[in-house]
Amino acid sequence: AKSLGRNGFQFFDEELRDEIQTRARLGSELRGAIAGNGLTLHFQPLYSMPGNRLSACEALVRWHHPTQGMIPPDQFVGLAEENGLIHDLGEWVLRTACNEAADWPAQVKVAVNVSPIQLRNPRFIRIVEEALAQSGLPPERLEIEITENIFVQNSATNREILQKLGRIGCSIVLDDFGTGYSSLGYLRSFQFQKIKIDRSFVQELPERGAAGIIRAIISLAQSMDIPITAEGVETQDQWAHLNDLGCNQVQGFLLGRPQPADMIRQAILTHA
Ligand code: C2E
Ligand code: CA
Ligand code: CA
Ligand code: CA
Repeated sequence: AKSLGRNGFQFFDEELRDEIQTRARLGSELRGAIAGNGLTLHFQPLYSMPGNRLSACEALVRWHHPTQGMIPPDQFVGLAEENGLIHDLGEWVLRTACNEAADWPAQVKVAVNVSPIQLRNPRFIRIVEEALAQSGLPPERLEIEITENIFVQNSATNREILQKLGRIGCSIVLDDFGTGYSSLGYLRSFQFQKIKIDRSFVQELPERGAAGIIRAIISLAQSMDIPITAEGVETQDQWAHLNDLGCNQVQGFLLGRPQPADMIRQAILTHA
């Protein structure tokens, strides 16, 4: 075991140095994974409500690490945002997701998560256009999911980029709604095509507080003509509550887990 140095600072320095080295190593391994074929996409189905048809799938990135096995995105997307790899990673995700979805029936859309950092790339619009052109996926079938954090800083440029994406024909979805910087002003500043209620609210259903918040979000969205998706639906009971509340689309382990491309193709054939 590591001994505590002559003073606490020395110990802290060592820990910090280890931490920095680990992150640097992980970063260069991630670079390799993006360039080679260390990443894959899983797809999770979204179902319309009412109707219960599979209407879209969300692409979720996975990293097959040679020694650590499958690493979930929560453990490397943040790192990629810090070291700039998010641009290459995000481009790979967009291309791969569009290529896959181009083979699905025309009524099934694909949702891709985009980090606010990616919007700062001057090439971003080009990257989206190229992913669409090369795959042959019609823009109307691509949904770009973006979290509330996008509104933390300079909304003017962000709004401009979102507008450009809209002009290409993609849908812009506000992800994880209710968790971040919940000023409602931004709902007026940009017309989203869809709002996703964060799973933290859904998972507290049927608790009354959560039900009240979800009801309020749905009525706000309805008054603005924006469809609502609920994510993280795990139980029949949650599903029934969301149905009663007038939710338009649901996603969660109850309906289907994120799964490899060949398995989602089977699900699409039976449920779309
Ligand atoms: P997210 O966009 O909110 O994606 C939904 C996450 O919730 C996924 O976790 C999914 O597996 C999980 N989930 C879905 N249904 C349920 C459920 O019923 N119960 C529970 N407990 N969890 C459920 P995942 O795949 O680990 O992704 C985590 C986050 O990583 C995503 O959250 C997203 O913010 C980010 N992410 C994933 N793929 C990408 C990507 O390609 N690009 C970027 N920028 N971020 C990504
Ligand atoms: Ca998402
Ligand atoms: Ca989400
Ligand atoms: Ca989330």
